[in-house]
Amino acid sequence: MTQKIILHNGRILDPANQVDIIGDLEIVDGKIGNVGESLSLQDATVIDASNMLILPGLIDYHIHLYQGGSLYGLNADLLLATGVTGTVDAGTAGFIGYEEFHRMQNTRTMPFWAFLNLSPMGEIGDIIHEVVDPELMDASIIGQLFKKYPQELVGLKIRLSCSIAGKWGQRSLSKALELAQQLRTRLCVHATDPCVPMAELADQLRAGDILCHVYHGKGDTILDSQGKIHPALLRARERGVIFDAANGRSNLDISVAQAAFKQGFLPDIISTDLTAASIFQGNEANNLPFLLSKYLAFGMSLTDVVKAATMTPAACLGLLDEIGTLTPGRKANIAILSLENRPVCFQDSAKNVIYGSQVLVNHMTFLEGMPVFDDNLLPRT
Ligand SMILES: [Zn+2]
Repeated sequence: MTQKIILHNGRILDPANQVDIIGDLEIVDGKIGNVGESLSLQDATVIDASNMLILPGLIDYHIHLYQGGSLYGLNADLLLATGVTGTVDAGTAGFIGYEEFHRMQNTRTMPFWAFLNLSPMGEIGDIIHEVVDPELMDASIIGQLFKKYPQELVGLKIRLSCSIAGKWGQRSLSKALELAQQLRTRLCVHATDPCVPMAELADQLRAGDILCHVYHGKGDTILDSQGKIHPALLRARERGVIFDAANGRSNLDISVAQAAFKQGFLPDIISTDLTAASIFQGNEANNLPFLLSKYLAFGMSLTDVVKAATMTPAACLGLLDEIGTLTPGRKANIAILSLENRPVCFQDSAKNVIYGSQVLVNHMTFLEGMPVFDDNLLPRT
């Protein structure tokens, strides 16, 4: 028997289809049905979404999930409560731990994809950094994993901070780019306190590669000595390099972000970079809706913020025909959130603060039409 749920009278915001209406959205057998200003409520379970936002399920494009194999790893299913219906592990596992990472994630409800760390050991925690010796980046083992998990592995990851890759510098980056080219996949580069100058690094990234932690404030940043965005970064954007905020607890500097926003340098993707230590803690990242509220405080529009956590990550995954939108017929991955007017303070690790006046709070999450989180505050009949 057909099971129909109608999310009624909410603000339906779907950047991929340029939809922003007050109306109703049908969920039929796990898929999105009709979307319109006023649908018949007959024979349906009706959830009153008045004064709520109805969004595509959020996608966290940079997070650390490898629980058991890294001190960073968190239980992805905790994120269902925050409107997240898709997660991308940002290279927590290297090839040594990948099979175990894969096995563990398949015990979770949360859909996942992953970047494979180019260091065989992956990112195991702050107490010991991964070795990014290019000699250890085994093209054959890495290639086999990409062949085995073609849907799941979405790119390669490398951290090029001086404290991690200083010994190898450009050699590590060159090998990473070469392997990404061979595998025809994306390269995601973490470049806080980069061991290759930011402008040189940006000039080498290819269309589709990702520079994460784009607004970090450690060492060489995206700003030149005059506080202007390096022209190399602008060229990279022009070429199609993707800029991910990947905030984390210490990978965003509010003053860098503010300077970049003033120059119109917005993030393509807003992701959390959450770890076991930072999930639901503090006012730096905490959870994805909270973090998105920080970008409202920076002056981004609600539509752009939602796009950066739904449509753009879905497009980067090559899955915009399945997720990241509210197009009828797609998987009913949906989040119902309120945008609450209340003072909120956001901080970074340098103790800079920015104040906002609005905060996003998730109330209900659907994964393929199933309510996987429900705070029970929305009336229903
Ligand atoms: Zn990270």
